Amino acid sequence: MIVIGAGMAGLTAARQLADAGRSVIVLEARNRLGGRLYTSMQWPDAPVDVGATWIHGDGPGNPISDLAKRAGARLTSTSFNRDQAYDSNGQRLSEAAATRLAELRSAMRRAITSAQNADSDIALREAVYRGMGYAGMSAEDRKRVDYLLNTSIEHEYSGDASSLSALWYDSDGRFSGNESLFLDGYRVLAEHQARGLDVRLEHIVSAIRYEAKGVTVSTNRGDFSAEVALITLPLGVLQAGAVTFDPPLPARKTEAIAKLGMGVLNKCFLRFPQPFWDTQLDWINYVPDASRNGRWAEWVSLARPTGKPILLGFNAAKFGTEIESWSDRDIVADAMATLRTMFGARIPDPLDWQISRWASDPFARGAYSFNKLGSLPSMRTDLASPVSRTLFFAGEATESRYFQSVHGAYLSGQRAAAEVLAR
Ligand SMILES: Cc1cc2nc3c(=O)[nH]c(=O)nc-3n(C[C@H](O)[C@H](O)[C@H](O)COP(=O)(O)OP(=O)(O)OC[C@H]3O[C@@H](n4cnc5c(N)ncnc54)[C@H](O)[C@@H]3O)c2cc1C
Repeated sequence: MIVIGAGMAGLTAARQLADAGRSVIVLEARNRLGGRLYTSMQWPDAPVDVGATWIHGDGPGNPISDLAKRAGARLTSTSFNRDQAYDSNGQRLSEAAATRLAELRSAMRRAITSAQNADSDIALREAVYRGMGYAGMSAEDRKRVDYLLNTSIEHEYSGDASSLSALWYDSDGRFSGNESLFLDGYRVLAEHQARGLDVRLEHIVSAIRYEAKGVTVSTNRGDFSAEVALITLPLGVLQAGAVTFDPPLPARKTEAIAKLGMGVLNKCFLRFPQPFWDTQLDWINYVPDASRNGRWAEWVSLARPTGKPILLGFNAAKFGTEIESWSDRDIVADAMATLRTMFGARIPDPLDWQISRWASDPFARGAYSFNKLGSLPSMRTDLASPVSRTLFFAGEATESRYFQSVHGAYLSGQRAAAEVLAR
């Protein structure tokens, strides 16, 4: 059997098939395991996760919690309660501003609930703007609403609020528990899953020819044939048409590929000579003014969990996409402008940095999937469904309940492997 992709979905499926006694080859385009689990070792004393960071909801039922235990992973956690927000002028958010932000957060929730009770769908931004009377708000309140949309929704779901479906953007489920992260990086889990598997790195799949009796997969290093292929290509790769299918995939699947969204979330790690911020904080939030809407609004300090003076800035959706074409120096300069607004002109320049560009990555073409205006949650089931008893599909985007997560990728791999074994 052939499994395409050595991310969490592919490795989990291959593991399950191999454990059931099947002979499996995993074809992976990159020169490393993990896909969107990517622990960079550029700083040998401080591994950083350029892709997924957290086990979201490291509590009962989350399969990644169990996997982390089996793999002997060293975990720590961050808390949203260890946070400090700064206003656009760089001052700590006043009590009055924090109260107003909380009121607007509740009003936004009400606007979204009301849009979700409607029969027809609209873009999330429109639902929020209309429901909250955005046009008639003061400039200060508009700034706050845009900050909330950006940080609590776009950073979470990776789609632009103007593209997210108001009805379905949050149709996913959650596990309860800590936000745990890996002291040695998420790579520990990829390596654990891959133990003993036949993974062929640097095998870029370009074409899949299939019929009832079997499948031939073409790569830059030749063709591979098997009875079955289990495909975990990211939604963005499928959307780009980087892999051709012969015969073409059924209409329901191509419609799902076209209509679901692939979003962007990028990370910028800045390593400083020493911390200049309160190292007891995990989250540092910044409410930009209208001219810098969506820029550098959320930061995680790695100082407390790892002991290293590293700040991680997030950018999603529109701005996250825009800066992919910027040079590293321009990105760092823009990040430092925000940090200097909050912490003063005299803070040091970073010693070094690491910056992701997930949308430009040919083997990801985005960060993770989202429910786009015009899509339906059932399209994820269409994306997941087997074709001709020969092609099977997994990957975070195929998960109806836990899309956009590592646990979703894991569960999708388990599901698809079970389908193969039951065929
Ligand atoms: C910045 C960022 C932050 C995130 N944060 C979190 C988080 O904190 N917690 C969380 O739970 N989730 C998070 N996620 C989401 C999580 O990383 C993904 O949902 C999950 O890793 C996807 O796994 P997958 O196996 O479905 O896909 P992938 O990991 O993308 O695996 C697919 C594999 O297919 C390979 N491939 C692609 N094209 C080809 C080709 N042509 N030929 C052969 N192989 C190919 C890829 O290289 C890749 O290895 C984050 C993602 C990003 C990008």
